[in-house]
Amino acid sequence: MTRRVRVRFAPSPTGALHIGGVRTALYNYLFARQHGGDMLLRIEDTDSARFVPGAEDYIIESLRWLGIEIDEGISVGGPNGPYRQSERREIYKKYVKQLLDGGRAYIAFDTPEQLEAKRAEIPNFQYDASTRMSMNNSLVLPQEEVDARIASGEQYVVRFLVTPGEDIHVHDLIRGEVVINSSILDDKVLYKSADELPTYHLANIVDDHLMDISHVIRGEEWLPSAPLHVLLYRAFGWEDTMPQFAHLPLLLKPEGNGKLSKRDGDRLGFPVFPLEWHDPKTGAVSSGYRESGYLPEAVINFLALLGWHSHEEQELFSMDELIKNFSLDRVNKSGARFDYQKAKWFNHEYLQRRSDDEVAQMFMPILEAHGHGGEDFKKVSHVVSLVKERVNFVSELWEQCNFFFEAPSEYDEKSLKKRWKEESPKHMSELRALLASQDDFSGEALDAVVMPWIEEKGYGVGIVMNAFRICLVGAARGPHIWLITDVLGKEETLRRIDAMLSR
Ligand code: GLU
Repeated sequence: MTRRVRVRFAPSPTGALHIGGVRTALYNYLFARQHGGDMLLRIEDTDSARFVPGAEDYIIESLRWLGIEIDEGISVGGPNGPYRQSERREIYKKYVKQLLDGGRAYIAFDTPEQLEAKRAEIPNFQYDASTRMSMNNSLVLPQEEVDARIASGEQYVVRFLVTPGEDIHVHDLIRGEVVINSSILDDKVLYKSADELPTYHLANIVDDHLMDISHVIRGEEWLPSAPLHVLLYRAFGWEDTMPQFAHLPLLLKPEGNGKLSKRDGDRLGFPVFPLEWHDPKTGAVSSGYRESGYLPEAVINFLALLGWHSHEEQELFSMDELIKNFSLDRVNKSGARFDYQKAKWFNHEYLQRRSDDEVAQMFMPILEAHGHGGEDFKKVSHVVSLVKERVNFVSELWEQCNFFFEAPSEYDEKSLKKRWKEESPKHMSELRALLASQDDFSGEALDAVVMPWIEEKGYGVGIVMNAFRICLVGAARGPHIWLITDVLGKEETLRRIDAMLSR
């Protein structure tokens, strides 16, 4: 029987969820859905020093906004809870004891000062087979003394006993076989008595085992921990149910050199967080994709292609298409350049795919902020249909369509210079008279009278129409002129010509 696919997204609540973390969540989700498996959300909050209030809610809200659904864990519950590691203390203690009893781990009393002294004494000091017997631990001290020290309340840590000189094989679904010699590993701390909590390594392994995780899909920065994790599975006797690993490529700076950081976003003006983040300690506010006007489906598509590609040229994928097409085989080994201009392009594409009514709905608050709260929704939706293709974001609509809602209060100097000719006032007053006599103000009807009039008079079409546009828009921009008159209507069109003529 093949094993049921169960993956987990296991963030630490140490601040805003970075966009790279969102990609990790997405790839886990796509993989789970494709295989009809489960997507778990576990909060790894064993490092109390780095805990940031609000971070967990932020993670949940981010995933919800993006449509990354959780089947089990934080925010939905499930049979393997609790899903917050700080609430699983008693569970971990049992497994720490198992390692100690089996001689796979030991107790160490070294104080920070003692460790510091060692580091000063021995170049490149590492707590391992070459040094552990000269340290302050249960491998060296008599059992009675160890017991007495613990009984007296002395703080200690539990370290993993790594046997040197052994090749450890990590099978990575993206990188293939990675071999590391155990001699380069140190005796990692697995548990700290001070806060009665395990470290990441132990908690992670125990939980992945107890939650029956089949695949661990996570960022490349965790690859160096994988050999230790393999050793831990073995120490517990869980090799048979050890998950398969897949370490995702790094997200690189837009220039392609080095890891993407928050500073790159600040420097180049793009968000590195899914949602706006208010740092509870500093009060600093960092921009988010949502608040910057990105559609969730655009962010999803953009992230999906950062490190993965389909076998076709296709670039636009809905979530369902991604679920169908995603494959770890086509995740790149090398880092993915964070091309944020591409994110804008995706947003443009997805904005076009949203209905005019939907976009109009998003645009209404912006209209209201410009003093047009009472506009007819049908009109707004129609205007949106005329200018949508010109923008990447809803926030850019206003400057593309403001003239549909208010008469120009000033006229663009450049356009005037170039397009308002000596004869324009004469043209416009004649045109005004012609338009005033029209009952049918549809674009077709107007075109059918205005064009022959221009020809008959021997005026240039461009000269007349450019001047007319300046009257209506205040500049040389906007959609086709009859589309504009159609929205403005007769009265307003005439009023705008008058306003220009009386200038
Ligand atoms: N808590 C780790 C993190 O913050 C999880 C790493 C893993 O997936 O094993 O990314």
